[in-house]
Amino acid sequence: MTSTAEETAAFQLPPAIQEYRDLARRIVREELMPLEQEYLASKNTAYGLMGIQNLRAAFDAETVARLVKISRDTGLWYLLVSEEYGGLGLPLLAKVVIEEEFEYCSVPFPFANVPNILYECRGEQVDRYLTPIMEGEKTYCFAQTEPNAGSDPGGMMKTSAVRDGDHWVINGSKMWISNAHESDVVMVQAVTDPAKRQRGGITMFVMDRHHPGIKIEEQGLATWIDNGRHAQYLVHFDNVRVDESNVLGEVGKGFNLGQKWLMIHDRLLRGPYALGKMRRALDMSVEWSKQRETFGRPIAERQAIQWKLVDMYVDIQALQSMTYTVAARADAGEDVRNEAALVKLVSGDWGARTIDRAIQIHGAMGESLQLPLTRFYRLLRHAQIGGGTSEIQRMLIARQLLK
Ligand SMILES: Cc1cc2nc3c(=O)[nH]c(=O)nc-3n(C[C@H](O)[C@H](O)[C@H](O)COP(=O)(O)OP(=O)(O)OC[C@H]3O[C@@H](n4cnc5c(N)ncnc54)[C@H](O)[C@@H]3O)c2cc1C
Repeated sequence: MTSTAEETAAFQLPPAIQEYRDLARRIVREELMPLEQEYLASKNTAYGLMGIQNLRAAFDAETVARLVKISRDTGLWYLLVSEEYGGLGLPLLAKVVIEEEFEYCSVPFPFANVPNILYECRGEQVDRYLTPIMEGEKTYCFAQTEPNAGSDPGGMMKTSAVRDGDHWVINGSKMWISNAHESDVVMVQAVTDPAKRQRGGITMFVMDRHHPGIKIEEQGLATWIDNGRHAQYLVHFDNVRVDESNVLGEVGKGFNLGQKWLMIHDRLLRGPYALGKMRRALDMSVEWSKQRETFGRPIAERQAIQWKLVDMYVDIQALQSMTYTVAARADAGEDVRNEAALVKLVSGDWGARTIDRAIQIHGAMGESLQLPLTRFYRLLRHAQIGGGTSEIQRMLIARQLLK
């Protein structure tokens, strides 16, 4: 028995998806795993930077170029890109399965990283923002959270955009914005109609990060300081003047756009994000427990250890079934908002507890930074907070249950 996806009886993955899964697995084994020790030792990677940015932070240009070439030659670069813009046109289920493979290793594989709200780009916005981000030439940040608006951005957001002739004038401050300092493009939500707020009164704007009036400040609350780099910032908007060409989507529809992004990118794709790490943690724990001896026997022979392994395995199987099912239902055209919230909730909660069990099985070695476990733990612990906390996912699910 292994922790791999073939074990999921409910799904006979179509041959095309299996081929991609095998390709991804081969790349992980042959290209990424040999780089993992160097990656883990790097002081320059940080949570919230994009995969390609973390690769550049950790490796020489030649290594990064080799991985990018593999990604482009295999077509995987466009895995998550919409078909309209040259994406592979794979179903969501395929994306989930492939992503899961790449999450097995700490070293990120370079993909085109396009937040799906950017597909709202129209006219010159496409060349200015969407295309360069898709090709990896520019990076972005998404600014919704504020000092007093986290779980309830619709109700508490203070950043405003006020009409002034043909222009909008944006004022306010955002907090915890990942990648702000390194980004070329800023997407920001602002209240344009205080009476309507999230029901038609919040608009999404997109602009260059160096647009006059934008100030990025270290917030002094780094979350990844152990690796020497801040990745979350305060972003201040001080009389930032923009016009209609900076409105992303429609005026007043910006809150829904944010939710649309969250549903797939920050909820459903948390499933494979957790699953790859959980499978790796189980594989490592099985190996370790078979060879680590105490009191004359491998710890794998102790029931206390076996039950931890089984509990990890159960979480993986259940989350995998759930994630694949929700992806397949989304592919069939179903509205899976509620189910995506469930995947987000379970990925964070069970993901963190699975890694916690793996660390315990490894004893002191589990805390070593030479293993990926503590890093996995931080990432999955964060999954219970970022992009809507576990409590907020429960709130969304409860609303549906009680409707
Ligand atoms: C590393 C990192 C990266 C981030 N990157 C970004 C980014 O790029 N862009 C961005 O816009 N934001 C970003 N954030 C912010 C993140 O989205 C928010 O932190 C998150 O939404 C939670 O908001 P909060 O911290 O204000 O918690 P709060 O809203 O203050 O909540 C505090 C606690 O109360 C609970 N709670 C709140 N309301 C309820 C309720 N009704 N019922 C029960 N419990 C409740 C919460 O679940 C939480 O446990 C990032 C945060 C971190 C830590």
